[in-house]
Amino acid sequence: MTDAKQDEVDPNAPVAGMDFFMQLEYHELLCPVVREFADALMDKRLIGHRCPQCGLVYSPPRGYCPICVVPTTKADEIELATRGIVTNYTVVTPVQYYGQEETEPFAKVSLQLDGGGNLSLQDLLEVPVEQVHPGMRVEVVWAPDSERKVDDITNRSWGTAEGAIQGWKPTGEPDASPDDYSDKVF
Ligand SMILES: [Zn+2]
Repeated sequence: MTDAKQDEVDPNAPVAGMDFFMQLEYHELLCPVVREFADALMDKRLIGHRCPQCGLVYSPPRGYCPICVVPTTKADEIELATRGIVTNYTVVTPVQYYGQEETEPFAKVSLQLDGGGNLSLQDLLEVPVEQVHPGMRVEVVWAPDSERKVDDITNRSWGTAEGAIQGWKPTGEPDASPDDYSDKVF
């Protein structure tokens, strides 16, 4: 059986298409340990869970240590320092796709907090991207009380909390030695 219409399709014709912009909004309930992390951020506190077996600190808390395969609970909760060391960074050069609001390159940094705990994908403030480097000593800049929010936190975030933390700025202290942070990230 033949399809007369299919026979008429020119295989060399350009593919037809159209632009269609759409937006999807996802709403999810935070699991209890991430909810506690979000509540603490609203109080300008950073919390994490310290694994009772290996001592690694997870922030946001996960409720378990994947390395030791043990649960962590409220009893393992600790308050983290709001100062630390830049351990790694990525410079993002925005592509001007539809809806892009960034126009200039900016840095996202990974941090090792004093006393334990790591955060990823944090904004570095007051530093030109060409001057970003591992070892920089930084401290948190909280969003103002009237603007602080935690709507952007998800169960999969790695400590990103742009609504609560504006970013991290240099403390003015000398750079940390690589011995202070190498082999200690995660
Ligand atoms: Zn562990």
